[in-house]
Amino acid sequence: MRIAMISEHASPLAVLGGADAGGQNTHVAELSAALAAAGHDVRVYTRRDCPDLPTVVHTADRVTVVHVPAGPAEPVPKDDLLPHMPAFSRWLSTQWRTGSWAPQVVHAHFWMSGLAGLPAARLAGVPVVQTYHALGTVKRRHQGAQDTSPAGRIRDERALGQAVDRVVAQCQDEVGELMQLGVPARQLAVVPSGVNLTAFGPLGPAEPTAGRPRVLSVGRLVERKGFQDLVRAMALVPQAECVIVGGPSAAELDSDPQARRLRELARRCGVADRVRLVGAVPRQQMARWYRSADLVVASPWYEPFGLTPLEAMACGVPVVATAVGGMIDTVADGVTGDLVPARDPVALGTAVAALLADRARRFRYAAAAVRRVRERYSWQGAAEQLAEVYRGVGVDAPTPRVVVS
Ligand code: UDP
Repeated sequence: MRIAMISEHASPLAVLGGADAGGQNTHVAELSAALAAAGHDVRVYTRRDCPDLPTVVHTADRVTVVHVPAGPAEPVPKDDLLPHMPAFSRWLSTQWRTGSWAPQVVHAHFWMSGLAGLPAARLAGVPVVQTYHALGTVKRRHQGAQDTSPAGRIRDERALGQAVDRVVAQCQDEVGELMQLGVPARQLAVVPSGVNLTAFGPLGPAEPTAGRPRVLSVGRLVERKGFQDLVRAMALVPQAECVIVGGPSAAELDSDPQARRLRELARRCGVADRVRLVGAVPRQQMARWYRSADLVVASPWYEPFGLTPLEAMACGVPVVATAVGGMIDTVADGVTGDLVPARDPVALGTAVAALLADRARRFRYAAAAVRRVRERYSWQGAAEQLAEVYRGVGVDAPTPRVVVS
């Protein structure tokens, strides 16, 4: 199958951990690689955000990344990208009509990619599959006046969901949100994200520790990730250290407003000597950090899916997570980790302290977590399910050639 992935702001080649670079980058990179490994011909279209980028890049995973000239060739916050989507769409359309390659299916990631992809796909006569990754309704509910999304986002997301051929939700919570938004149930398929089981596993090197129990948390330093709740919770977890990976590079942490707020909060809570911000870590080094942890905390206020708890589970690390979004599905409460209410530092601290004090339960959770991830959350499995979704919208392709690497 010839598959066009559209990921306007999240390049599969981008450095992760910055404000707009996170799970979607990983998702698009890994999913495309898994589809390519299954013999499909995958092109990822992402916005050109640097003048030095070549138009076409062939990755080691046999995926072609195409940098689309739409808007200035410099980083633009994702909420400011909407005015550039018509140019993105026109460029795709011209390529698919006049170039040497045209897709059989278009899979758009994030709503703006859908707005760019849908008109071009309709002109080319190919079906469109939409994955939202995040929904405007959820963001508005949690962020209120601080939500910087473009004004028509919710209206556009609803219209898109009704116009495309299939919407792929990543978890049951998202199914409920999409139905409330007005996306018909018949449009929906559920395919969870996966984990790279080669990169993330229990065996392998680990970052050194300072000898005390380590609580690790990973993510972009944005308020909704709830790191402030974790810092507060650490007051209830004496002796353990808290390591936070993500955000800007280590050198830029001192000038990052959210990093400064977290450090100041840690000082006020009397835990500053036990809270350490590491900054962004390259994807290839993430497993070393997970393996160094006694447990991983994911404490967002809301989370469309949440890759970091799954990555931790794949590395055999128990997880304490807030019971939101995808984590309600991925973290089996009392089996692979503990679920706690969001925005509740006391519940979080109590759960973390209890689990750190119970080595036998941690071992049980760790073993069950590895099994669960291997059974349910491989990218190979996700790619197989998505290929079914593509066939379900009428992509009639010969059985892919299996490439042995
Ligand atoms: N990540 C990374 N380096 C960092 C911080 C995060 O490679 O310094 C990766 C992390 O391993 C995960 C992704 O970024 O694959 C974050 O995905 P998640 O779904 O947890 O959050 P999102 O950023 O999508 O909100």
